[in-house]
Amino acid sequence: MKQYPHIIVSNPSEHKGKWNQVFNNDHPIHVEVGTGKGQFLMGMGMLHPEVNYIGIEKYDSVIITALERAIESEQPNVKFLNEDVTNILDYFDQGEVDRLFINFTDPWPKNKHEKRRLTYKGFLDLYKQILKPTGEIHFKTDNQGLFEYSLESLSGYGMSLHNVSLDLHKSDIEGNVMTEYEEKFSQKGMRIYRCEAKFR
Ligand code: SAM
Repeated sequence: MKQYPHIIVSNPSEHKGKWNQVFNNDHPIHVEVGTGKGQFLMGMGMLHPEVNYIGIEKYDSVIITALERAIESEQPNVKFLNEDVTNILDYFDQGEVDRLFINFTDPWPKNKHEKRRLTYKGFLDLYKQILKPTGEIHFKTDNQGLFEYSLESLSGYGMSLHNVSLDLHKSDIEGNVMTEYEEKFSQKGMRIYRCEAKFR
């Protein structure tokens, strides 16, 4: 991975507040937390060359597939950080990010693990700092319990909810790009839940 620092960015804290220099343009920055193997971001990057995408994934064994995909596609607008989302404030400045995606995050169903859910209010505190005031969180999951929890967490945090879908693949929401988990679960006939949330 160290051979491809232009794809898996090493020392991301050095670029805090300067990601537009890394991409060499002023395009908006969209971040996916818990990006997995990168299918969603590579697809989004291809569809939206006018947006810069950064995926954060903590496990090398997973992000290596994202790297392989990115080497093959040579898309300049998609980069990855092999880091833990818990440290996201080290990598992005206040208001540097335009949109944050949370896709099929681990549900951590036991109450005692609530703080690990990426839609827990502790994480929302972090996201709020790096997102622009007009920034948005886009969330998808197959897990009904996590979806219900997240709707409460996002609205309890004072965020407004938009484009809520209880069955994304049967909804009229356009431009959906499937993640690996989304493909896997929808092939099994499971429905996909989705919402967008804004601070204002
Ligand atoms: N988003 C992908 C998808 O929809 O196919 C992957 C979903 S997978 C269930 C969740 C991913 O989030 C895992 O690869 C996991 O390692 C990553 N993840 C969970 N918590 C994380 C954290 N705190 N920091 C970085 N990655 C995290």
